[in-house]
Amino acid sequence: MTLSELQRIYDSPFFDLIARARGVFLEHWTGNEIQLCTLLSIKTGGCSEDCGYCAQSARYDTGVKAERLMPAAEVMAVAERARENGATRFCMGAAWKGVREGDARFEQVLETVRQVSRLGMEVCVTLGQLSLNEARALKGAGVTAYNHNIDTSPEFYPEIVTTHTFQDRLDTIAAVQESGMAVCCGGIIGMGETERDRLRMLEVLTNFDPAPESVPINCLIAMPGTPLEEQAPVDIFQLVRLIATTRIALPHAKVRLSAGRTRLTREGQALCFFAGANSIFYGDKLLTAKNPGADQDRQLMEELDLLPQAPFTDFHPVEGALSNGV
Ligand code: SF4
Repeated sequence: MTLSELQRIYDSPFFDLIARARGVFLEHWTGNEIQLCTLLSIKTGGCSEDCGYCAQSARYDTGVKAERLMPAAEVMAVAERARENGATRFCMGAAWKGVREGDARFEQVLETVRQVSRLGMEVCVTLGQLSLNEARALKGAGVTAYNHNIDTSPEFYPEIVTTHTFQDRLDTIAAVQESGMAVCCGGIIGMGETERDRLRMLEVLTNFDPAPESVPINCLIAMPGTPLEEQAPVDIFQLVRLIATTRIALPHAKVRLSAGRTRLTREGQALCFFAGANSIFYGDKLLTAKNPGADQDRQLMEELDLLPQAPFTDFHPVEGALSNGV
């Protein structure tokens, strides 16, 4: 889609916009299902990069301590609990610039993925930059989706990150696409960008081929110590408009209402679900930031008659691991 097409959709009268988005959602998805994803930081803090929103950058004094890469057995314990709690997707994130074939830490991640993928959940990782060889190795180990966000518009991006470029991100995404893993790619709003920047970001996403399987929409959590610590919370109606526009532009994508839900009211979240968000991170912690408690989310879902998306059942062996074919 072009920017002007997206702008026209985004600017339509609010209730027309969310009604249209709900219609598109019902055409492509099962009524009231929400996918529950659990996110685990398997390597926290001490990152060399300077992403202005991130508490894990070693360049900012945020109080987040650098930790070692978590052993596979510890990750498995968390993954098993996540599955018992209804998660159908398990995402693992590591705070570093990227991964390289042959590196001992990458080999350890591959082994962890092999083990986690046997649990029957979708397996997503976010490990920063990679090239085709690493992407193929991850796919072979059982990763179903790779998360790598473009964060914002190409124009606003240099205000937020200077240690790697927007093009670096697109190159990683191209490697992921070529490997056959699904692409999970979205961005963050509330970093000081304009509404036009948000739509430019969406324009880039809608022109991916294949389209992203999943689009996380994060609201900045202004972390103390980061350059963006003073940013004001995102306006709820701007967020709902963006979610609705994303749903209309990318009807088959899971639209994930990701970071920042602690700042949204229950009513605000309900509007986001109506407008087409169909996935949340579940569990009281994101990578380093707070998330609503699992009990709160269960209660909200019950009150809205939302059901957790049923686990996938059609698993096929892939090179010794299991994959759900995504
Ligand atoms: S977002 Fe990722 S790459 Fe950027 S500073 Fe944080 S951990 Fe590092």
